[in-house]
Amino acid sequence: MQKGDRAIDTSPVVSDEVKYTTCYMCACRCGIKVHLKDGAIRYIEGNRDHPVNRGVLCAKGSAGIMQHYSPARLRKPLKRVGERGDAAFEEIEWDEALEIATDWLSGIRENDPKKLAFFTGRDQSQALTGWWASQFGTPNYAAHGGFCSVNMATAGLYTIGGSFWEFREPDWELSRYFLMFGVAEDHDSNPLKIGLSTLKGRGAKIVSVNPVQTGYSAIADEWLGITPGTDGMFVLALIHELLRAGRVDVDYLLRYTNAPWLVIDDPGRAEDGLFARDGEGGILCWDRRRNAVRPALDPDAAAALKGSVTLPDGRAAKPVFHLLAERYLDSAYAPEAAAKVCGIPAGTIQRIAAELAEAAFEHEVVVDQPWTDWAGRRHEKMIGRPVSMHAMRGISAHSNGFHTCRAIHLLQVLLGSIDVPGGFRFKPPFPRPAPPGPKPAGKMGEVAPNTSLPGPPLGFPTAPEDLLVDDDNPPVDSYDALADTKDVANRLPDDQFDGEHRQFDGDDYGWGF
Ligand code: SF4
Repeated sequence: MQKGDRAIDTSPVVSDEVKYTTCYMCACRCGIKVHLKDGAIRYIEGNRDHPVNRGVLCAKGSAGIMQHYSPARLRKPLKRVGERGDAAFEEIEWDEALEIATDWLSGIRENDPKKLAFFTGRDQSQALTGWWASQFGTPNYAAHGGFCSVNMATAGLYTIGGSFWEFREPDWELSRYFLMFGVAEDHDSNPLKIGLSTLKGRGAKIVSVNPVQTGYSAIADEWLGITPGTDGMFVLALIHELLRAGRVDVDYLLRYTNAPWLVIDDPGRAEDGLFARDGEGGILCWDRRRNAVRPALDPDAAAALKGSVTLPDGRAAKPVFHLLAERYLDSAYAPEAAAKVCGIPAGTIQRIAAELAEAAFEHEVVVDQPWTDWAGRRHEKMIGRPVSMHAMRGISAHSNGFHTCRAIHLLQVLLGSIDVPGGFRFKPPFPRPAPPGPKPAGKMGEVAPNTSLPGPPLGFPTAPEDLLVDDDNPPVDSYDALADTKDVANRLPDDQFDGEHRQFDGDDYGWGF
């Protein structure tokens, strides 16, 4: 192009070197190309070949250059030289900084290491900082996530073996119904925008549950302006409706979940509420054909989903699903009750539940490919449920965030929409075993002067003895809280769910509440 005699170069060369890496201005980890000239960063560009963002770069990502060249960037340790609040600091060398820190900390480590509470910010080095805490000997260690969304990540790891945002994605190409909770435009930003655009292009329905109608909620097909912090009640009312109508994926529950595992019903005793096990520690189910307990992982067991059974040692036990149905069929979780809490009309809750069930069961995805499941059973086709979900800080940043997230995952599981075509799919190494293996170190007896912990301070309790409590702070016994739901058991149908059928019909079983 010419203007007068002057040629305009529309593609000036801005760099003499390009480095490929990932952006860390937020948690998405978009692929970026960093252009350097004479060894200095000049420009950041999205990487079109990266699977997360496929070239998209947001404004925060572009501003990543300021991480390196902002005048406010710290280049050396700062030592306060005035009174606290005077903002008077001087730069010191690392040797001096480390000497000061050692002076502060060595006395604590020699005396009682747990008196050090070590909190780090959002960084990529928790493997290092967690290791440092365990070497110091303190279990009082946490990082950014403890104030952000670790409650949701924990809920995901305990329930389905992974969180909403790690090594996973809704099946944007096949999902028909997408439900999102408390999602702003921050976490998972670029991948979610690309996914939402794919869904809209395909005509899938997007429902956003969020107190405010900005961003994603503004482009959703339906926005549910929920009362802040009450999403859990809304989700449990959806579960109530699905259970009432018998619209859950029984095949999926029997094949992939602990729904048939037996839970000891022995009120007031130490093992009440724990899984029933055989002599070797294997978990048991009730085989309704043999009328006897069997190993829960026995692929030939005709596992029961309901009923109160007597264990060989004489104690009573019930399947997980039975307890779940007892609790959530209670009228406390009916849409009318939930509407008063979360501000979403009962009729809307009923309609959303019906829409979820319709998408999952009337529009199932059928992949015509024989396959073999974990137990060696061959299946001629893969059945998928085209319903997917996503949740983020609007859930985690409220009280009950852990249980709200667990409820959302439970809803996904009941619909059979985890790790199936059309649903919410993981990429190896996820999902992990649920719950994950590491247990928390730092119990009584494991913390001692000048001694490292025997393991990482962050872990996953799987039994009361794993909890970091002392004799003065026993875990709260939840039996009393459960007692008022016991009578619901009397309303469960006498017939057993038939594992041959994908769904059960609540009305046929007389479950019409
Ligand atoms: S969404 Fe933006 S800030 Fe976050 S990783 Fe991607 S480019 Fe960086």
